[in-house]
Amino acid sequence: MHEMGVVSSILTACTKTAEREGATRINEIRVKVGELSEIVDEAMYFAFDSLAPGTLAEGAKLIIDHVPARSKCVECGVSFGHGRFDITCPECGSFFCELVQGRELDIECIDVDLPEEAVAGDRVEEP
Ligand SMILES: [Zn+2]
Repeated sequence: MHEMGVVSSILTACTKTAEREGATRINEIRVKVGELSEIVDEAMYFAFDSLAPGTLAEGAKLIIDHVPARSKCVECGVSFGHGRFDITCPECGSFFCELVQGRELDIECIDVDLPEEAVAGDRVEEP
């Protein structure tokens, strides 16, 4: 399953960031998934539930934001939304279109818990 690998690298990146920040746990991971990225939500949740236990992200919520596919016409410059197989300019009918968005697979943000001392430490450093 493709999603296992995807979730595994998301988890690695998130736990690395969380550890660097000194976080005690990850509450929420929000990812951006393009409509053309061939990712199945259910498979993502399943992979997350199987891989997160034992990491800082155990019990965290995985939130998937879908990014609709959009292309820009190379001929007339119009930008338009479309499905997986109908990438044709609605203005001039050209097939020369550049995908602007829709293939994303990015970590948008993560929400972590920081230990009390770290929060207090930050406050002291402020001018
Ligand atoms: Zn066009």
